[in-house]
Amino acid sequence: MQMRKVYNWQLGRNAAYVYPQHRPKKQWAIIFDLNKCISCQTCSLACKTTWTSGKGQEYMFWNNVETKPYGGYPAGWDRGILSKLGFQEWDGDKYAGKTLFEAAGKDEKILQYLAEDEDWAHPNIGEDEVAATVNRGDWITMPHRIWMFYLPRTCAHCTYPACLAACPRKAIYKREEDGIVLIDQSRCRGYRECVRSCPYKKPMFNVETRIS
Ligand code: SF4
Ligand code: SF4
Repeated sequence: MQMRKVYNWQLGRNAAYVYPQHRPKKQWAIIFDLNKCISCQTCSLACKTTWTSGKGQEYMFWNNVETKPYGGYPAGWDRGILSKLGFQEWDGDKYAGKTLFEAAGKDEKILQYLAEDEDWAHPNIGEDEVAATVNRGDWITMPHRIWMFYLPRTCAHCTYPACLAACPRKAIYKREEDGIVLIDQSRCRGYRECVRSCPYKKPMFNVETRIS
């Protein structure tokens, strides 16, 4: 697969991508203050009832709030792709390892991970498990203090979207005027390459319409 070099400001270096560098005029963003989030899921339900209340969309959550370290939707979305990526090299607080594009095999565009059907069936499964730690007699064990936090998650509308790069139909585009990443429903054929490729598992397949 022929890759281009694009500048990635988060990594502070050029990185491989399928298409040449292209920036929108503006970039829409949503910011969650993790110090204030109480995981009431109001944002999840507001999003759900506004956008995905139709048939075939029962298990779609474009916004969901997870209780980390173990909560996740689909279950294990983060551990799944990170375990495929393997050792992640850091230089201080800067990521110095490979991106999902750079770690892809010879005949792949992107390192992919496909969640199982079962993983989509239980939003935030594992939310009640904290990472325990302190030594309390016989039953403890982990090498750090008990911790957890809430993590609201939406599509990141990535600068170099894996979903867009993966789509064989060129149905996904990053809108010029605001940087939002969208799926053109008339071009999508439901191959689900976007679902496999998004590291955050935010494109969702509609089992009724058979498109994402
Ligand atoms: S970010 Fe969402 S879950 Fe967190 S407090 Fe706000 S509405 Fe509730
Ligand atoms: S669907 Fe995933 S890869 Fe595509 S823009 Fe959103 S977060 Fe990025």
